[in-house]
Amino acid sequence: MPAKITVVGSLNMDLVVRSPRIPLPGETILARGFVTLPGGKGANQAVAAARLGGAVTMIGRLGADGFAASLRESLDADGVDHSRVLATPETATGVALITVDDDGRNTIVVASGANWLVTPQDVAQAEAAIAQADVLLLQLELPLETVRRAAQIAKDHGVRVVLNPAPAQPLPDDLLALVDILIPNETETALLTGLPVENEDQARTAAARLLELGVGAVILTLGSRGALLTTAQGSLFALAFPVQPVDTTAAGDAFVGGLAVALGEGKSLPEALAWGNATGGLSTTKFGAQPSLPRRAEVEDILRDVR
Ligand code: ADP
Repeated sequence: MPAKITVVGSLNMDLVVRSPRIPLPGETILARGFVTLPGGKGANQAVAAARLGGAVTMIGRLGADGFAASLRESLDADGVDHSRVLATPETATGVALITVDDDGRNTIVVASGANWLVTPQDVAQAEAAIAQADVLLLQLELPLETVRRAAQIAKDHGVRVVLNPAPAQPLPDDLLALVDILIPNETETALLTGLPVENEDQARTAAARLLELGVGAVILTLGSRGALLTTAQGSLFALAFPVQPVDTTAAGDAFVGGLAVALGEGKSLPEALAWGNATGGLSTTKFGAQPSLPRRAEVEDILRDVR
């Protein structure tokens, strides 16, 4: 049985220019090139899970423009069910304006557009799609009340709630108390706890603080070092896979997708951690967000090689 994953989250079109350098205020520069790529943390995680064999349903909103049609096509290509992604007349589809310079540095400005119009009522209308899932995936690119309602519906139906608290922002305790597994990176952990996260000891202390705030388990992603799982029973460090990274965009989204599929298939948390690390690691070996997300066979291969 495939893992049933429902994602309540953002869909964006990424408008990416490669520029010799990041322009100063008031400056105009000729770009080296331009591409449009499907993105948004919600859609990235949905595609990550679908490429690993998950049966994925996406809930969200798109505008009434050409980007909406392209984003639906790209979800179709990966078999993500977008029948519950609503069309929002008079509104622009979410976009991210991304500038990447010759040194690989970037600036990103996100115009949320339709994503910011996903309401708690929208989510309530899609209750059945949440209730049937093994895992609900949430991020923070939608209004907080919408995220909270989705988490509450999942909780009411005994569906596992996984929250990736990105982009970083403070969260109310009543939302954290609904979360079964919180997956922050170091920056998000520091912001949520107010504690420094610069070494492994500090990471353990901050994760313990998050457990006190009411989450069931914390998985702190630590980039090339891997991930730290902390539950009331103790903590477990899972090393990242040795890869040759070329672009770490969407590594966190890949990790979340991999972990969710493994959990949905009934694998243990430590096994799911390995799936997250393998998926996250492989995604860094290719450029782009969704184009870099690996297929199931690649993840199974790297997991087998390491055993
Ligand atoms: P984010 O992209 O959200 O900041 P991280 O940088 O922590 O998240 O990366 C998420 C996961 O992706 C890591 O826990 C790890 O599994 C994998 N990963 C990221 N960078 C590397 C890397 N350089 N080598 C191997 N795995 C990586």
